[in-house]
Amino acid sequence: MRKPLVHIIDRIKGIKRTQRIRYATMALGILALAPPVGFIAQSFGGASICGSLCPRMAIGPSFMRELFTRTAGVALLFLWIGSTLFFGRWICSHVCPVGALTEFGSKAIPRRFKINYPRIFNAPLFRYGFLGAFILLPTFGYASICCGYCSFSAIPDLFGAIFSPGTRALSVFGTRLISIGLFGVLLGVLAVDGRGHCHLTCPIGALDTISNALGAKMPFARRVRIHLDKCTACGLCARECPTVAIEVDRAAEAKTKIDYQHCNHCRLCESICPTGAIQYSTLNAMKKEKSANVVELVHSPDAR
Ligand code: SF4
Ligand code: SF4
Ligand code: SF4
Repeated sequence: MRKPLVHIIDRIKGIKRTQRIRYATMALGILALAPPVGFIAQSFGGASICGSLCPRMAIGPSFMRELFTRTAGVALLFLWIGSTLFFGRWICSHVCPVGALTEFGSKAIPRRFKINYPRIFNAPLFRYGFLGAFILLPTFGYASICCGYCSFSAIPDLFGAIFSPGTRALSVFGTRLISIGLFGVLLGVLAVDGRGHCHLTCPIGALDTISNALGAKMPFARRVRIHLDKCTACGLCARECPTVAIEVDRAAEAKTKIDYQHCNHCRLCESICPTGAIQYSTLNAMKKEKSANVVELVHSPDAR
């Protein structure tokens, strides 16, 4: 009994400061936007991010209707995508309770049982395909993917079911059960970083990635960036990056590159780089450090 406890304490002690801050804000996001507390969601009349705060419903042909009926959700959508343009994917990586819940849940599953989806699939291509279906199906009169098959409703409900017998009863039927199995389990806790649904099937994530890639080109926008003068091309960041966003090619002039259509701003690479070459910074600031070699690489989805 003592050994596993010591192991857990050692693991917690080994977590770097950047990641500790991220886990703390993720926990706050869960408290604010998921049951049973959901203090921000409750002030908008709901139990979670699914409801009057939903930012997903406005994506597609119902935008104008949502603008007037679910204004808070539309505002959240603009805040989400807009903040990413300037600061990187903070809301996805540090606040969204949907990604946070499955990421925390996945930590209880041994790594050998987990699946690395970005290594198997071309994640941006898959994600943009899902976004296309999300917009086009209702445009052409077919049933909407939202809300029947939606991680925003299934994952907070799955968590809420632990605390509420009412939610538990609702979770075992029809599309809700399929959604929970797909988003919460298969693409959730069984994904290597607990975020397979983020990488492959989230329309907010798809728009957020576009904003992330576009913003990375702006000299004053903050991103996780690589200082090539300090990089030894050891490859550790590329091996550990859960989204397969980093490419190391010792022979190339720009030996280490980040693809912002893959990067979800988890900042793990920054925590583990042994030379401190990875920094959350702007291109301008890094150039001032006389790093003429700062690299940003924005692939088109089919460039991989
Ligand atoms: S990709 Fe979607 S589910 Fe994942 S953190 Fe972002 S908004 Fe939340
Ligand atoms: S871990 Fe640091 S030094 Fe190693 S390849 Fe990545 S950026 Fe370069
Ligand atoms: S590049 Fe770094 S911040 Fe981006 S997903 Fe990979 S490990 Fe996380």
